[in-house]
Amino acid sequence: MKALVLLLVVLFGVWLWRRGRTLQTPPVPPAPQVSAPAQPMVSCTRCGVHLPQSLAVRGRQGDYCCEAHRREAEGG
Ligand SMILES: [Zn+2]
Repeated sequence: MKALVLLLVVLFGVWLWRRGRTLQTPPVPPAPQVSAPAQPMVSCTRCGVHLPQSLAVRGRQGDYCCEAHRREAEGG
């Protein structure tokens, strides 16, 4: 019976030791969030304001900040 208790104590000790080791390992730093990849910036052909290409209005002569400026510049 004494041997069994000793075995349990040793197992518990090993468990604690392994647990301590896993806790000591430094946490893996989270990968930098690349949620929004750098968007190419364009400037409005009409007024020159800079804006991400995804927000720009495509025109025949270039990119514009809004539909009104595209119309003003291209007359359409
Ligand atoms: Zn503009």
